[in-house]
Amino acid sequence: MKSYSKNDARTHCANWDAGDCLGCMMPRVDGELVMIVDSKLQGKTCVVDNGCEYFERIVVPSIENQGR
Ligand code: SF4
Repeated sequence: MKSYSKNDARTHCANWDAGDCLGCMMPRVDGELVMIVDSKLQGKTCVVDNGCEYFERIVVPSIENQGR
């Protein structure tokens, strides 16, 4: 699996906020897309270089669709 850097998060992740994470997640609950704020990520330093499930599940497919 490819690893991603904070520069990738800065460039591609809507949660990136000057190196910190806004923590906005959009899971499906009972078949509906909902927005929640993940308190484990919100306001904390971006963790993409140690693995971020949101980045890998939501952001990476959009990067790959850009022909990266
Ligand atoms: S921790 Fe994940 S969701 Fe938050 S800014 Fe970094 S890559 Fe994006």
